[in-house]
Amino acid sequence: MHIDDSESAPSMPDGKDVVPEPSTTITLKRSAADPIESQDDATASKRAKVTSAELPPKTNTKAPEPPYQQSDEFWYPDGNIVIIVNETGFRLFLSRLRQYCKFFEREILETAQNASLPAPENGEDASQVDKDLESEGAPNRLYTLQEGPGPLAAMDFMIFLRALETPLQYAASSQSPDQTSCISLLKVAKKVECDAVLNFATDHLRAMWPLTTPPSTQDRDKTLPEANAILDIARTYQVSGVSRRAFYEFLRRQNLWTKPLFRRRLSSLSESDILSIFRARLDLQRKWTGLLFTPPGAEGRCLAIGRGTKKCQWSDEDARERNWRADFVTQSLLEMGLGNPFYHLQNTLEGDAFKSLERSWCAACIEERKSAWAAARLSWWDSLGEIFDLKFPDS
Ligand SMILES: [Zn+2]
Repeated sequence: MHIDDSESAPSMPDGKDVVPEPSTTITLKRSAADPIESQDDATASKRAKVTSAELPPKTNTKAPEPPYQQSDEFWYPDGNIVIIVNETGFRLFLSRLRQYCKFFEREILETAQNASLPAPENGEDASQVDKDLESEGAPNRLYTLQEGPGPLAAMDFMIFLRALETPLQYAASSQSPDQTSCISLLKVAKKVECDAVLNFATDHLRAMWPLTTPPSTQDRDKTLPEANAILDIARTYQVSGVSRRAFYEFLRRQNLWTKPLFRRRLSSLSESDILSIFRARLDLQRKWTGLLFTPPGAEGRCLAIGRGTKKCQWSDEDARERNWRADFVTQSLLEMGLGNPFYHLQNTLEGDAFKSLERSWCAACIEERKSAWAAARLSWWDSLGEIFDLKFPDS
């Protein structure tokens, strides 16, 4: 983090501020609000490029300021601080940044102390420090936002500023931000400690990768690159509650270990993640086989009671097990379910397989199995938490 508070930005002869840069050539982009727009094009294009040779001589030997390009979108003519992110400068209002981002509030105070300017005394308003900085002649302070804990791009910061400066874009639109935008919001909000944007982004990511609901056959499939991205974010920024659904995307791929495209995605995970997926897969396959081969009823008996109630065709345990396999378990169902147990559990439950049992199995016994299958779906999903959620505990 670097702040420059020692000198005014030099001015062109017409009083127009330019970005100071002692040693390298910088290209100034004109912003929409810049009065230069009203001049003729030839003059404008001639002035668009400014070199240090044209600038008034400097009066001290401060460290050179980092070169940057002006943001097209966020360059307020009357802004009082330039935040530089990855060589793009955003001219903004410090008071607004400090209002929403604890990071700027704290950094400004620390920098004021380091610069031997009057530090705020007990009870003194931080805005006094701002005024002091201003009176020292720093209308265009420069602030370089370093990346961390993950990489930070100028585009991330721009998306963050859009949310901060025009929150109505999300409130008024029925469209939620997509995953990429949410990740940008989260990365910047975490860095500058902006709780409002951080909560907004985290809530949306959790809705995209829900922890509480098992995946449904109705869900739009997510891609492995999306799953990779969310696992990376969950780990780097300690976002809890999204990883189980992301791991599931790997888990549900039938040819995960053999298809080259899937294997490439798998290889971007850590060894321990791959082992967890392998463990979970084996566990689900074991559960699927157990569920599929379990006949209806309780303790090997039919559940129908009372005279006049239609009972199952078979009453003894061995016959029930034998006929359940003959009536219900097919090789293709067994194999498909081993590949993607969640999907085929729900698909079978909602399909015709249970309906076709009505000829030889009673209604009570069929209902018992359907309930057991629905409960299995929830309990399998819960059991994945032990394997995957523990990898990303709450921060
Ligand atoms: Zn029965």
